[in-house]
Parts: sequence; structure tokens; C-alpha cells
Amino acid sequence: MSRGRVTVIGGGLAGIAAALECAAGGADVSLLEARGRLGGAAYSFHRDGLEVDNGQHVFLRCCTAYRQLIERLDAQALVTLQPRLSVAVLAPGGGRGCLRRTGLPAPLHLAASLARYPYIGWRERLALALAMRRLQAVDVNASEADEVTFGRWLAGQRQSRNAVETVWELITRPTLNLGVNEASLAQAAQVFQVGLLSDAAAGDIGWALAPLSEIHDRAAARALTRAGVRVRLRSSVRALEPEPAGGFRVSGPTIGEEHAEAVIVALGPARARQILPAAAGLPRGFDTALGSSAIINLHVVYDRPVMEHRFAATVRTPLQWIFDRTRSSGLRGGQYLAVSLSAADAERHDTAAELRARYLPELAAVLPAAATAKVRDFFVTREHAATFRAAPGARAWRPGPRTRLGGLVVAGAWTDTGWPATMEGAVRSGQAAAAAALAALDGVRRAPDQASVPV
Ligand SMILES: Cc1cc2nc3c(=O)[nH]c(=O)nc-3n(C[C@H](O)[C@H](O)[C@H](O)COP(=O)(O)OP(=O)(O)OC[C@H]3O[C@@H](n4cnc5c(N)ncnc54)[C@H](O)[C@@H]3O)c2cc1C
Repeated sequence: MSRGRVTVIGGGLAGIAAALECAAGGADVSLLEARGRLGGAAYSFHRDGLEVDNGQHVFLRCCTAYRQLIERLDAQALVTLQPRLSVAVLAPGGGRGCLRRTGLPAPLHLAASLARYPYIGWRERLALALAMRRLQAVDVNASEADEVTFGRWLAGQRQSRNAVETVWELITRPTLNLGVNEASLAQAAQVFQVGLLSDAAAGDIGWALAPLSEIHDRAAARALTRAGVRVRLRSSVRALEPEPAGGFRVSGPTIGEEHAEAVIVALGPARARQILPAAAGLPRGFDTALGSSAIINLHVVYDRPVMEHRFAATVRTPLQWIFDRTRSSGLRGGQYLAVSLSAADAERHDTAAELRARYLPELAAVLPAAATAKVRDFFVTREHAATFRAAPGARAWRPGPRTRLGGLVVAGAWTDTGWPATMEGAVRSGQAAAAAALAALDGVRRAPDQASVPV
């Protein structure tokens, strides 16, 4: 017998994780997704015979919830994880560095690499080691740590501009999707503590060997069907109302009406605000307070291989991170590189021609073979609101899963998971939401003053 009926609204990673957890917990689950595919912000599409990701996605070994989801989707063969963290760091004019961990425990695992890192001097190395130690001691849950920017804290730790650019930004930008001068100290400290400073293996990097939709759409759809979840694509929810006798009515033009005892709203913050009833108690303006930050990917198809690494970080150039997507996209002959530009608000409205004129010479400057290779294709993907802004003060606007209406639960990478807006954060939020929804089905109602939404 079913434990009760749950409707999950939104088929991104949060919604997929929530639906699978609820089904595993014995609920009768349906998942409503507006688009014709699952996977939300992490997807791929077809273009001229290739399957192309909307933006490069990586995860770390410490992303345990996301990795567990990959297992549940039976998609382990579609991702890979480095046995040991190793990142080539390239600079224009032949600069070559590497961040690689040794077998020593954290934080010593990076010591040898940083000692040889060519972009900083000895004084900077010493100051860096001291700052990393102090960063370990920052209380990520203290409100004071969420009141200042990471950049301001780094300045107080005597970090030179060069060290900020060649070490701290390298990690902060792609993980927080903000530069150090905009990111919250608390959120940055969480990333460094969990990903680099506590466990030596935590920062090993993983990525998809297949197009993202092979995992987050096709494998996810199979896993949801196996679990007994009814997946309804092209089912945009327009209204969500509590019913007088308990439970909720969910409706939309192609859905008609669905009735459920518990509803999980697994949407981005702006859509969630439109759908959630005022009685849910989320604070007015939470979505605009969280804001958004853009990610742009430049996709460059060369007629021959120009980069030997699977991926590389760059310094002293606006390139940020470069990934080889040749195999995963299905390209035969030549090499397909994706240049991932995080915190790219300033470039959001630049035309493809402008980006091409600016970035192809930068690629040639860090990858000499690119200077003579022919560019067969160049295109741009833009996600204007890729993530919320993990800026000072953001934490207070991130709600926990429970709302003031028993049985109405929120999920999404923007909710209060403690993580930045990542795949890991999305999956964790889905799991937390499922636990809250299942508890609601069992009649465990929280009193309003125990709800975790800020008011
Ligand atoms: C370009 C880019 C690069 C990124 N890189 C990384 C990375 O390297 N590593 C990492 O961990 N994270 C990365 N992220 C972040 C990560 O993709 C997101 O944090 C995560 O996918 C968010 O999942 P979600 O389920 O919370 O939300 P979403 O993925 O936004 O899912 C919400 C879903 O709700 C659906 N929906 C909207 N309105 C309705 C409605 N009315 N009715 C029904 N359904 C609706 C949407 O179609 C969508 O499918 C990146 C994001 C982008 C955009």
C-alpha cells in the first residue's frame, strides 16, 4: 500500500533526486516537468551532428550525494573521476603549472605542488599556507562569516593580487560562480574546507564522459520509471493551491489537475516564487535578494588536436577553464574544446563575433597549436541565470525544505543546503525535501515556529 501521494514539480537534479527518494520511501509519486526533457540546468542538445552540453559540468569526489544519484541512475560508466587531483594550469606564452595532490593527508597533500607552482613567489607561498590554515578555522555557519566578501578576508590575510588571481580565483570562480570580491566568505570557506582542506581525496575532479542529457535525462527517465514514478514532460505547473480538506491541487494547461497530500516544488527561485502560495511563508523578495550569476561557454571545434589535457585551468588570461569535449560530443577528427566562463555577467550581451575575436587569440596564446589550427566551428551557449549569487547575506535568504504549509516542501540548488549552487547542492536539497515530504505523509506536522524559512 502506498504511503500517500507526492507531486514533484520540476525535473532538474533536485526534482529527480526528490522523486526517487519519495518512491523509495513508499510514496506514490508523479513528477511534472515543463520542458520536453529532464535534467534542468545540466543538459545537452544536438547541433550539426554533435551532442553538446549547455555548459561544462564537473563534480568532486566529496560530492557524495551526486555520486550516489549517478549510481541510482545506473550511469557510473558515463562519468569518470580522477584517481588523484591533477590540474594543468596554463598561462599565455608557454607558462605551465600543475596542481596535483600527493598521498599525504590534507592539507599537506598540496604542499609539494604549491612549492613548485610557477606563478607565485616564496613570500606568497608562505602567506598562502597561513591563509589556508586560517580558512580552515572559519565557522561557515557563523553569520559574521556571511557578512563579508572572501576578497576582503583574503586582503586581511596579506594575499597579493597575484596570489588571488593565480590561486584563489582559480577555485572560487568555477565553484561559486562569483569572483572573490563578490563571494561570501562563509560560502568560499565551505568550498575550500570540504573540497580541499579537510580530506586529501575530496577535491579529485569528476566529469561526464557522455553528453549530460544521456545521464540527467535518458538514464534518469529510466531510473524514475523503474522506481514507479510517473514522469510527465511538457507539463508546466501554473497553480498550486492548498485544499480545504488537506493536501494540494496542482494545475496547468496540459496537466489538468493533480491532487497530492505532499508537494515538492523543485524549481529555480524565480519560478518557485511565482507558484508558491503566500501562506507558504517564504519571505517577500527572496528570489531577487538571491539574484543570479551568468555562465557562458565558448565552443570551439578545431580541425586538429590543439590541447593534450582532458581539461586545464588558465591564469593571466580571461579564459578560465578549458575542457576537451571531443569524445563525449561524438566528434570524429579534430578537437572540440569548451571554454567555461563563470561569473560572466559582463559578457552576457557580447555577440558571438565579439567573443570569437576576443577569445580565439587567447586560446592561441596558451595553446600554441591552436595558433595554426583551423577553426571549423565556434558557437556560444549562455545561461544568464545559471546560479544564484552566493554573495554576503545570501544564506539568510535560502529557505530550508519545510514551508509553513504542512506537506508543502521546497527543493533546488538555491535552498539552504550549505553548498553553493551545484549539482551536489541540488541533489542534497532533493533528498532533504523528500525526507520532509515523507514525514508530512506520515502526519508529522511541524509547528509554524519550527519551520526553517526566515520570516
Ligand atoms: C552552464 C552551467 C554550468 C554549471 N556548472 C556546474 C558544475 O560544473 N558543477 C556543478 O556542480 N554545478 C554546475 N552548475 C549548476 C548546476 O547545474 C545546478 O545547480 C543544478 O543543475 C540545479 O538543479 P535544480 O534541480 O536545483 O534546478 P533546475 O536544474 O533549474 O531545475 C528546475 C526544473 O524545473 C523546471 N520547471 C520550471 N518551471 C516549471 C513549471 N512551472 N512547471 C514544471 N517544471 C518547471 C525546469 O524546466 C527545470 O527542469 C552549472 C550550471 C550551469 C547553468
